[in-house]
Amino acid sequence: MLKGKSAIVTGSTSGIGLGIASALARAGADVMLNGFGDADTIETLRYRLEQEHGVRVRYSRADMSRPEAIAAMAETARAEFGHVDIVVNNAGIQHVAPVDEFPAEKWDAILAINLSSAFHLVKAVLPQMKARRWGRIINVASAHGLTASPFKSAYVAAKHGMVGLTRAVALEVAQHGITCNTVCPGYVMTPLVEQQIADQAKAHGISPERVVSEVMLVHQARKAFVQVDELAALTVFLCSDAAASMTGTALPMDGGWTLH
Ligand code: NAD
Repeated sequence: MLKGKSAIVTGSTSGIGLGIASALARAGADVMLNGFGDADTIETLRYRLEQEHGVRVRYSRADMSRPEAIAAMAETARAEFGHVDIVVNNAGIQHVAPVDEFPAEKWDAILAINLSSAFHLVKAVLPQMKARRWGRIINVASAHGLTASPFKSAYVAAKHGMVGLTRAVALEVAQHGITCNTVCPGYVMTPLVEQQIADQAKAHGISPERVVSEVMLVHQARKAFVQVDELAALTVFLCSDAAASMTGTALPMDGGWTLH
């Protein structure tokens, strides 16, 4: 379905981003992976995706908190693939603390990586998307882009910002054959959430199982984690021609969390 297209997926060495990058490769797109991790593990992953799906897969270690690194990654992808058709702004980090104790450097890092990186990457790829009159921008926000939880001020602010950025960009690019949408996942079991479970179990002096049932899934009417594959399939759909008229949306995939 996406043969001949090429994609950049930020934060795709792990979790949701890795699932999305794999699904785009399976659908036939060339993919630029990005994120941190062990070099040998990432090279094995890159090679496996190429072999399994017969597409070109490249890797950039660009730090999403650095605008010049983001622009350089976009240029590398354009040089390698000839064009960039799909951008998935997925890289993200989390920090949990009361707002009056929230470290300012954590606030800056979360806003930079979870929100500003999307602006910088969109800015870098838009001219050539416009020239080709086709593009798909998918921003990975969160249920926290639509609702709030205590102790996550920077994350909630960044994810609400992602929803706003999506809407503004969607209006600007609609007549150029480009769509821009946000996906808003509920809790997904990834390394980010595993860390959060461990931190919160320690902070509250309760078991990891209680954190899952009383802090996390308490919000989600379905009482189950969202699966990476579900988010990957939604992203591939948003890249399809069937979704050409869908733009500016913030799509919850959260087991009913944001219905409250
Ligand atoms: P994860 O920790 O498994 O993966 C995060 C990815 O981002 C990794 O590849 C990591 O290397 C990369 N990354 C982190 N900092 C980076 C930086 N400075 N530059 C480049 N890459 C960087 O996390 P995940 O759970 O897969 O989260 C992915 C996205 O989904 C995030 O934006 C997160 O906020 C969002 N999200 C996650 C959940 C969840 O429950 N897991 C729910 C809603 C939204």
